[in-house]
Amino acid sequence: MSEIINEIMKHLPKDKISDACFEGANIVLYTKSKEFFLNNNGIIKKIVDDIKKRVELRPDPAITKDIEKAEKEIKSILPDEAGVKNIIFDPQRSRVIIEAEKPGLAIGKQGALLRDIRTKTLWVPLIRRTPAIRSELIENIRAVLYQNSDYRRKFLDKVGHRVYDGWLREKKHEWIRVSYLGGGRQVGRSALFLQTPESRVLMDCRVNVASDEEAYPLLEAPEFNINELDAVIITHAHLDHSGFVPYLFKYGYRGPVYCTAPTRDVMSLLLLDYIKIMRSERRDPIFTSDDVREMVKHTICLDYEEVTDITPDVRLTLYNSGHMLGAAMAHLHIGNGLHNILYTADLKYARTQLLEAAHTEFPRLETLIIEATYGGKDNIMPPQKEADEYLKTIIAETVKRRGKVLIPTLGSGRAQEIMVMVEGMVRRGELEEIPVYIDGMVWDITAIHTAYPEYLNSSVRKAIFHRDQNPFLSPIFHRVGSKKERKQVIEEVGPCVILATSGMLVGGPSVEYLRELAENPKNSLVFSCYQGEGSLGRRIQQGEREILFRDGMKEELTKINMEVHKLEITNHSDRKQLMNFVHKCSPRPKKVIVNHGENSRCLDLASSIHKQFRVETIAPRNLEAVRIK
Ligand SMILES: [Zn+2]
Repeated sequence: MSEIINEIMKHLPKDKISDACFEGANIVLYTKSKEFFLNNNGIIKKIVDDIKKRVELRPDPAITKDIEKAEKEIKSILPDEAGVKNIIFDPQRSRVIIEAEKPGLAIGKQGALLRDIRTKTLWVPLIRRTPAIRSELIENIRAVLYQNSDYRRKFLDKVGHRVYDGWLREKKHEWIRVSYLGGGRQVGRSALFLQTPESRVLMDCRVNVASDEEAYPLLEAPEFNINELDAVIITHAHLDHSGFVPYLFKYGYRGPVYCTAPTRDVMSLLLLDYIKIMRSERRDPIFTSDDVREMVKHTICLDYEEVTDITPDVRLTLYNSGHMLGAAMAHLHIGNGLHNILYTADLKYARTQLLEAAHTEFPRLETLIIEATYGGKDNIMPPQKEADEYLKTIIAETVKRRGKVLIPTLGSGRAQEIMVMVEGMVRRGELEEIPVYIDGMVWDITAIHTAYPEYLNSSVRKAIFHRDQNPFLSPIFHRVGSKKERKQVIEEVGPCVILATSGMLVGGPSVEYLRELAENPKNSLVFSCYQGEGSLGRRIQQGEREILFRDGMKEELTKINMEVHKLEITNHSDRKQLMNFVHKCSPRPKKVIVNHGENSRCLDLASSIHKQFRVETIAPRNLEAVRIK
């Protein structure tokens, strides 16, 4: 048994504890005494205060109430309004997972109903939100976790042993270094490899979806060995940060992947979609859905600001980065006070329709690793408000002349921002009630948003929790799920807004809509995201107005007569927001490492931060290693 568990046992009545194990960095104790489970007189709380680790006391499986009877009991305790959909028992861990539409009502005032369930059934209840819009993906992920609960139990115990069983590698001096396996003076391919004498941690692990060249992280760097990898941290679901994770599992990695729950879900959806796209282009995907399932089995979800040990000398906390649903910055507390690093990954330092601005206050901070996607001097975007006003005007005018607004968009982030905005305009009477059609992937990702309202900004949260007014459930939104429905939207309905992937018009439903809507000057096309070199979107932006569409053997020249607009918006920070973020960072870091940006932008941002804040800055290239301590 682990030393830390022996230590805890010393403070507990001997005959009361029947078993003890780890669930990641959490310590779980089991008791066969009903009285001790229901009331331990603050003994557990005192231990938590002393050792500063999370300790949970659960009933031993031997004393939990018979499952059938417990289920009846739970159903009689929970009110109908809670909308309980599913009750799933995890007998080995004495936990019962209750899926409810209104978790607040299932929990009860100050947890009264949960306490009631504990007392009457001797099971530990956990409440999970049923997404307001049905999400097959979330159902599948939950099914994978439930089906593998025995494996999960052993896996989480193994993770705990790695954290608590002391140092594996011989400790001589203390040092910290970060190697760039990707993301050094380039956008995408983010992969930072953190090493200490004891730990090997990978932060982000991407594929480059836009190009075949430099598509994968440089895992061949000599310092990287997949067999020695302790942990992977994924900041957010975009494939340029997460796309390579299943590949690690394909090659035998079986350690933990840390991220937020929405990141796990959106990432899984995007990865499965990526496999589908590769297959449809007759290319061999570099991993399969089995590898994605392995990833899900090994994911440990953390909430924002939940502190957790991931190795004997690295403690991780995720903070909101404002970039997309569940996106996080990783704060690493290393060597028990030796040094603190913040890796921002992609960061938005401004509040949006959907999310709060990135977090800026940390308990300690010495080294900041910051992105520079829009870090160049001239990368100044108009304020969000202006962009929103512009979009409002386009929609209002197009509707007035009875046209349709096509917005090619990424599946996640911007699409949901636009949904919230249009819903608000209609609700406030600023726009007549027009339908908004949500095609394919955008709908699936929206459904995931409805599972995690606690990750949205405070206005949206308040609307959902206090006014029962979920913007995503507005009757103006309609799902387009098939070719037939797409045809109906094009031919049969009047003025409307259409949100469809791909955002750059490289395949996907957005291209099908474009082909049919392009020739009518009443319609509008609005670009809402970056248009990559060579994409159809970029060509139209650059003024091309005759497009050759291919349909099997048939070729058809289509004129673009619809209005073309470009919204200057991004879920990254622009130059001003990046500088503001560094300014507001508390405490002020002593060293800043700039990455995830084109060469000149990284250098430019690094030099400006150095001049303005008088701190050491550096912009490493790929395969360079930076000694941090
Ligand atoms: Zn991103």
